[in-house]
Amino acid sequence: MSTILFNEIVFGPIISRRLGVSLGVNLLPRFGKYCNFDCIYCECGFNSDGKSDTKLPEILQVREALLNKIANHDRTLGDIDTITFSGNGEPTIHPSFPEIIDLALDIRDLYAPKAKVSVLTNGSGLSKPKIKEALKKVDNAIIKIDSAFDKTVNLIDRPQFPYSVEKVIKDLEDLKGVFVLQTMFLRGEYNGVKIDNTSKEEVEGWYQVVRRTSPREIMVYTIDRETPAQDLQKVTVQEMEQIVNPLRNSGLKVSVSG
Ligand code: SF4
Repeated sequence: MSTILFNEIVFGPIISRRLGVSLGVNLLPRFGKYCNFDCIYCECGFNSDGKSDTKLPEILQVREALLNKIANHDRTLGDIDTITFSGNGEPTIHPSFPEIIDLALDIRDLYAPKAKVSVLTNGSGLSKPKIKEALKKVDNAIIKIDSAFDKTVNLIDRPQFPYSVEKVIKDLEDLKGVFVLQTMFLRGEYNGVKIDNTSKEEVEGWYQVVRRTSPREIMVYTIDRETPAQDLQKVTVQEMEQIVNPLRNSGLKVSVSG
């Protein structure tokens, strides 16, 4: 597959389906993927594809790249809506993630005060107090939970450590009303095993996760580009709308991206 790797520490701006005009910050290697999940839909490819580079940027390099990009970015798309930590893997893996978040917030306040600071994370860092505190400070802590069931998470997201949805729900206790829940809906087959996180049982379980974690907002999306696993299918916008309707009707803010 053609993997999408971000070869700069700060990239963009790009138009994000969910966040608007976004400057991306990649705290991972510039030429390789580095993640503690190995999602079958990851646009960066499988972990085994991305071992060519393992070097993480230093704090000062991130500072310089961010300042430089904010001063010199292409303004044809308009003002920056968000500075988004995403890139070639899981951003909270970076050993200086909390310090870099403080730095980004300071730079934002000084040079792009209208921009939000967002982090796309798989939630694996939530059990570390410093990472959780950093996630509390940003405007949008966007945390992925793709299923209420460990078995399904192990099929779709393939955490490379013992993962438990129950533990993530507990870790989110003091982020209630603050974090943004992000869920990828898909179906298909991988290694001969059928995968569908839109079944009745899955959706009921997911509603429970929503009720128990009380996200401030929910972002639901589906496959948009080529995926490393070959036999995966998009879920239609209409289906996702049906899934989220009861949540919307109960007053929750939900966005759907097809
Ligand atoms: S958590 Fe994100 S970066 Fe990591 S494998 Fe999954 S989609 Fe890719």
